[in-house]
Amino acid sequence: MRFATIIRADDHSEAIKQKIMTTLVEGGWEYDEHRPDFVISIGGDGTMLQAFQQYNYQLHHVKFIAVHTGSLGFYTDWTVEELDDLLTAMLAKHYTTVGFPVLEIMMDGGCGACSYLALNELTISDPAKTLKIDVKIDGEHFETFRGTGLCISTPSGSTGYNKSLGGAVIHPRVEAFQMTEIASINNKVYRTIGSPLVFYKKQYIDLDIQYSNSVTVTYDHLVHDCLAVATIRCRLHRHKAQFARFKKRPFWERVNNSFIE
Ligand code: NAP
Ligand code: MN
Repeated sequence: MRFATIIRADDHSEAIKQKIMTTLVEGGWEYDEHRPDFVISIGGDGTMLQAFQQYNYQLHHVKFIAVHTGSLGFYTDWTVEELDDLLTAMLAKHYTTVGFPVLEIMMDGGCGACSYLALNELTISDPAKTLKIDVKIDGEHFETFRGTGLCISTPSGSTGYNKSLGGAVIHPRVEAFQMTEIASINNKVYRTIGSPLVFYKKQYIDLDIQYSNSVTVTYDHLVHDCLAVATIRCRLHRHKAQFARFKKRPFWERVNNSFIE
């Protein structure tokens, strides 16, 4: 088996990486950052987003494992205390895989066409001036949005920015994506639905930017580096992000542990 690691830049995560490297290599695994079977993220949920962004061109092949070295997260399954159990299970190949839906983002505008994948969400916003966006669902006009911005999130991203915006928490087995508003203006001229919308997997939405001063587009923790975006199409990607599961850790238990108890 081939593996690669992505770590948060701190001494603790580096030490955990060394332990994982030593154990797996002694067990006959090979470190290969170009074509790994397993990508091990060591850090927090943000580190897992980095791992996803680095390896999302190999989604059909790669399986992610996330170890946390900070507070308990959503993608991170394993604590440092459980590391020996994880390494034993990895060497024994005792795992199942679970796939999380991924958002596909296609953009066009002043700097040409480009596309991204997101594990958490896309956001489009302008903090200084209001954006005006025509929102189409499956090619049909739905509403004209005016306000700070919009967030389009995956189910696994629904506990991130989406939740802060009042979006629903969606189980990652549900093949859907949702759109939430960031401070919409509602008056006699502009009217938006005002509530989060959930789309099923065959649907797509188009965001046609009618007016903006300088739009900021983010995907996961990254910022698209062009201010002249004109249109954005979002839908679910044909591949999911595959996570190797070595033990049960139900989603609603994570939600409870993170937000309630
Ligand atoms: P960050 O500023 O460190 O992340 C903000 C927090 O969100 C961190 O506590 C992070 O966990 C957590 N997080 C990331 N993905 C999550 C998920 N799917 N469910 C629940 N919590 C999640 O930046 P980052 O670590 O690079 O993460 C980027 C993400 O931050 C974005 O994708 C977005 O979801 C989120 N964000 C939230 C807001 C907001 O709520 N107002 C604003 C901007 C961005 P770790 O500490 O374990 O990394
Ligand atoms: Mn973080």
